[in-house]
Amino acid sequence: MSERTKLVAGNWKMNLTATQAAATLETFAKAVSSRSDVDIVVCPSYLAIPKVRELLRSRPIHLGAQDVFWEDSGAFTGKVSAAMLADAGVDYCIVGHSETRGRFGKVETPASTLGYFAESDETVNLKIGRLLYHGINPILCVGETLAEREQGVTDAVIEAQIRAGLAGFDASELYFSAIAYEPVWAIGTGQTCEPAEASRICGLIRNSLASLLDEDVADQVRILYGGSVKATNSADLFHQPDIDGGLIGGASLDPQEFARIVMSAG
Ligand code: PEP
Repeated sequence: MSERTKLVAGNWKMNLTATQAAATLETFAKAVSSRSDVDIVVCPSYLAIPKVRELLRSRPIHLGAQDVFWEDSGAFTGKVSAAMLADAGVDYCIVGHSETRGRFGKVETPASTLGYFAESDETVNLKIGRLLYHGINPILCVGETLAEREQGVTDAVIEAQIRAGLAGFDASELYFSAIAYEPVWAIGTGQTCEPAEASRICGLIRNSLASLLDEDVADQVRILYGGSVKATNSADLFHQPDIDGGLIGGASLDPQEFARIVMSAG
């Protein structure tokens, strides 16, 4: 088994204007400057990408995006392509987040508007294809809802999302991709998955990669945990045998808290 470098990514979601993102990044970057053994990614909103890119030029922190569309250009109002992200200097992109899949844990969103977010495994697959074509590393999110966990179908749901999301790719294309196990019931709820259980699912994902692709890529891909990670629980999660880091939502908005999380990954 290879020694994988831990990866910690912050998903700022629809928070922080470009000015606020710059201030957050400055504080965060100073606080993590001594942690060179962890790969760090920040995923600001599209509008904050140019400003964040400028600030990251002299820093060992990668730039990520939160979503992408699967065509390079055309009449797709409001969408942003992988070609545009690559041109803006983006290295990583989240795909299939439960929020873009419309699988909200706590449903505050009226059912009538949920269709707006309805990303499927098929569109996830198309997006990954376009990102790989443009040299951007996908961070594929998978995870079960609370109802699925209670029905005992968690493993089957995760395996199906991995199989469909990665269908048609060659192992050699996916070496630098990451997968985030994000139980929907843990995202933004304050309820974290037990570290041993999160590690079990990450191990299951690794086994799926080995059987779908090959042992080498399964050994190389970073498998992250996401869902209410905080500085008080991150070390426990990140030191589980099958967890290679984290995808951090709410806690990544506080630069000191996010820095403590990153520091705990080394
Ligand atoms: C996320 O949105 O990917 C996430 C993990 O959110 P939070 O850390 O707030 O649960």
